[in-house]
Amino acid sequence: MPLMKSWVESANAPDHPFPLNNLPYGVFSTPAHDPRCGVAIGDMILDMAAAEEAGLVDLADYPLFDVPFWNEVMEEGPELWAALRARLIELLAEGSPDCTAVEPLLVPMAGAEMHMPFLVSEYTDFYSGRHHATNVGTMFRGQENALPPNWLHIPIGYNGRASSVVVSGTDIRRPWGQLKSPDHDKPAFLPSRRFDLELEMGAIVGQASDGPVTVAEANDMIFGYVLLNDWSARDIQAWEYQPLGPFQAKATATSISPWIVTKAALEPFRTDTPAREFELLDHLKDCGPMLYDIDLAVDLAPEGKPATTIARTNYREMYFSAAQQLAHHTTSGCPMNVGDLLGSGTISGATKEARGSLLELSWGGKEPITLPTGDTRSFLEDGDTLTLRGHAQGDGYRIGFGDCTGKLLPAPKDPYAR
Ligand code: CA
Repeated sequence: MPLMKSWVESANAPDHPFPLNNLPYGVFSTPAHDPRCGVAIGDMILDMAAAEEAGLVDLADYPLFDVPFWNEVMEEGPELWAALRARLIELLAEGSPDCTAVEPLLVPMAGAEMHMPFLVSEYTDFYSGRHHATNVGTMFRGQENALPPNWLHIPIGYNGRASSVVVSGTDIRRPWGQLKSPDHDKPAFLPSRRFDLELEMGAIVGQASDGPVTVAEANDMIFGYVLLNDWSARDIQAWEYQPLGPFQAKATATSISPWIVTKAALEPFRTDTPAREFELLDHLKDCGPMLYDIDLAVDLAPEGKPATTIARTNYREMYFSAAQQLAHHTTSGCPMNVGDLLGSGTISGATKEARGSLLELSWGGKEPITLPTGDTRSFLEDGDTLTLRGHAQGDGYRIGFGDCTGKLLPAPKDPYAR
């Protein structure tokens, strides 16, 4: 599919993240606008509350855009999702008869503040990147036992906290926690010294389920995708994770990019999961190309210094797709809700430069990386700004995600000091 041209000129540049082919959904505010739903088109945001009020978008018997989140649209289901996308393309395409009516409803993105695009119902994080799981397993258990015996058969995960999910741009505070280093015989309560990022994609569940669903049904339930940084305190994790998995190590914050890129926009970029050495059980089998070809990168900027790209990888490195993770999530009968967020697991590639966490990039701190600024990093330092970037490359256009950034602030003073 080629670039679809818009009368919003900036949207037609071949490397712009938000062409007419994309139309991602966010929530924005400006000094003149309370937080409200918006659609990105080039350098502008279409104010959906205003578009609905003007009668330009009229898809339901009641207002869909009088709230600052996209859950009500999700709730309506795939037919409305398709009708909305078709209507937006009509309104914004080159030659649209509605151009003069729509133009006053566009707000420059440069002056807008972005907010959480949806209310997160619940948050689950998976661990379905094979290179990541192999790297981490090799560090902790040796090469022979790198992948746990279940890993190639089910997408393993843990239930995270919806309350910890924040939008890109939110500062992250280095956490305190109970740590026990192998050289000490007693645990201590200290600020984390091994605070890390995890480069992931988040899938947003747009339809509820009550009972087990197939992979194809799960695919239909997914509304869209965001970039996701699962901030992780490795020293807290190492002490707490056995046998029930990560808990406080992952509960400080999880950042997501502000624009929901819809499944429809990503459709031309579908690609197969990697070859499998064990056949999956029937209920988890792929039903067509399950992944997307999305280039991903991580930039690190020390305080007051330029950013360096420290990792480049691709979403097609996943072993299990979001639809397979979602299907697995429902096998027990676990009800899924509109607004559930599923983290993919850290997405690393085969090469050293393609590792999606500092834990892997510095090999557990044994091989610190050196930045062009002269700084070295094993884990994050106070003042570091992390930016995840991602886009799917089309023929003369891009489907961009919008950055997922966060700055690490120093730990507070002892939170229990009185
Ligand atoms: Ca993770």
